[in-house]
Amino acid sequence: MIDELKKYGKVKEDVDLKNYNTYKVPGTAKYLIHVKSEELLIELLDFLQSKKIKYFIIGNGSNIVLPEDSFDGVIIKLTELNKIDIDDDEVYVEAGVMMPKLVNETVDNCLTGLEWASGIPGTVGGSVIGNAGAYLSEIFDFIISIRILKNGKIEELSKDDVEHSYRHTSLKGKKDIIVLGVRLKLNKGNSDESRTIMKQRMERRISSQPLEYPSAGSTFRNPEGDYAGRLIEECGLKGKTIGGAMVSEKHANFIINYNNATSSDIRNLIKLVHDDVLENTGVDLILEQELLEWMWLYGKTK
Ligand SMILES: Cc1cc2nc3c(=O)[nH]c(=O)nc-3n(C[C@H](O)[C@H](O)[C@H](O)COP(=O)(O)OP(=O)(O)OC[C@H]3O[C@@H](n4cnc5c(N)ncnc54)[C@H](O)[C@@H]3O)c2cc1C
Repeated sequence: MIDELKKYGKVKEDVDLKNYNTYKVPGTAKYLIHVKSEELLIELLDFLQSKKIKYFIIGNGSNIVLPEDSFDGVIIKLTELNKIDIDDDEVYVEAGVMMPKLVNETVDNCLTGLEWASGIPGTVGGSVIGNAGAYLSEIFDFIISIRILKNGKIEELSKDDVEHSYRHTSLKGKKDIIVLGVRLKLNKGNSDESRTIMKQRMERRISSQPLEYPSAGSTFRNPEGDYAGRLIEECGLKGKTIGGAMVSEKHANFIINYNNATSSDIRNLIKLVHDDVLENTGVDLILEQELLEWMWLYGKTK
């Protein structure tokens, strides 16, 4: 099997997924492949479907909580889809590019708009799926169209074809859709001014977020007119631990892996925080992170 997979990119077998999720929790997959190109991705999916082998796309794993059990399929990484084409104030960027790289490249080309994203440790693909954002901006503010792969065919969706709201899109959870790239419209700007904004944003993140520990960013979405972190803090949950997972003392909406946490530790702590906040404040917090279950993916082989 591994020899067949090697036709499509660099493959690893019996992979520890610890280095493929920013919580750094353990997990295993039978295979992981860095697919070489769009064309080979299409061929790979064909091959996997013909063999009824399950697959899953992981971006940078910065918005997911891995399952405890092992994945008997193929994790697909789009790292090699890493092209950025800039034409005047329009940018086409492939899904595997990391957001900070995209920001740096656009700012170097005197384009402004994406400075908010310089501290987001995710890929363009993952950021489109979840409508990543910060400081009152989000990626959908800049999207013209999205290039996707669906049922083996490439399609171009306009921004309006995709429902999107705060940290949510209608592409989320659609396991048969793969984002290949996105066309963005930015504004002409000044590199020095953009770099100043990026520096200020990064200083704010460093002072308010527990970046020294593995995490997956904000655990819950902010409810309308309030902050999840404020509610969690009000319930006295800062510093609460389960196993190696802890509600950060620095930012209550971050759960951190402070001591060899497992995925179950993280999941149990998420549930505890959610239930405690509901009981004590009446607010039903919505999870921003994705709790993966390999079972959900079985439909993908059909
Ligand atoms: C320290 C820290 C700070 C953060 N700050 C922010 C922030 O300010 N704002 C914010 O919005 N988020 C933030 N995040 C969360 C996270 O970085 C973003 O949500 C990011 O956009 C996720 O991208 P990813 O590539 O890691 O996606 P992943 O976690 O790898 O994947 C998320 C989902 O998208 C799917 N997916 C990924 N790529 C594709 C693709 N090409 N096609 C189809 N499906 C795909 C996956 O299958 C999965 O279902 C932060 C995280 C950390 C750790």
